[in-house]
Order: sequence, then C-alpha cells, then structure tokens
Amino acid sequence: MASRRERLPDNACPECFAHPWLREFVETHSKRRGTCPSCRRRNQPLVDVSELCEPFENLMSCFSPAEGPPLEYGTPIVQLILDQWDVFSEHLSARDGDGLLLEAIMETGWDDDGVPPLSASDPYVSKRWSHDTLAGPVGGVLKGGEGRSYAAARIPRRGIR
Ligand SMILES: [Zn+2]
Repeated sequence: MASRRERLPDNACPECFAHPWLREFVETHSKRRGTCPSCRRRNQPLVDVSELCEPFENLMSCFSPAEGPPLEYGTPIVQLILDQWDVFSEHLSARDGDGLLLEAIMETGWDDDGVPPLSASDPYVSKRWSHDTLAGPVGGVLKGGEGRSYAAARIPRRGIR
C-alpha cells in the first residue's frame, strides 16, 4: 500500500485538466511554478492537490458507490468521470495519470473513519439526476453553490431507474 501511496502526485497544474473552470482555479490558486508531478508538463503553475479537494468532493456528489453484484456492478469511478465530465485532460489520461490524481485529491479530504480512501477503480454509479445536470451548469457542480443545490433538489430515491 505504501508504494502505491508514494506514487500519488502531491501537486497538479492547469494542463492536468480539460475543464476551463478547473484550469482557471489552478492558475488563480497557484503559488509556485515547476514540473507537474501528475502530467509532467514543465514550468507550470502548481497547486497542492488538497486545494482541489472541495471541487472534487462536489463532483463526487454526482455519484454513489455501486451496491455490488448482483444488483449493481457499477463502473470504476475514474471511468465514470471521464465518460461524463470533461474534467481531466487527454494529456493526463494518456499518461494514466487521471486515476492517480483523482486518488491523490480525494485522499487529502479523507478522514480515517474506517472507510478506506477512494480508489480510482472503486465501482460507482451516477445518481440519476446527473444526466440532466450535465446539460446545465457543469462548472456549477464543481464550485458547489447553485449547481449543487439544483442537483441536490433532484436526487430521487435510490433504486428508481
Ligand atoms: Zn499537470
């Protein structure tokens, strides 16, 4: 486990992301420049992955853990995010950096409550409303606020398809 954790990047840069709101977020929160440990681009504005925890926790509110077989098999969470949200850059995904970055970000917000930290391969499902939300304010969900309350108001009971 330690070896995997050591591989987790501690910083990210705008080039890690495709989403314009995230790219801008990184640029405005960056305090230094350097080679990005996630995507390896040089001379980029860097932010600590913990800065990205809140937007990603908002994003994670669009998904819930799969019930598990035979009810729900789910899809690896990193794949769901890639399929549904234009969050990570192709450059990062091509280096298989997206899952590690996702894990690194989520681990910064992890409190040791007996549940292991998120793994990029954990099976998840989209909450039903997220398909509707996609047409709406994508940046709003990352930011929380309006997009989130819109989404929260639309969470249906579990199990309804
Ligand atoms: Zn990067």
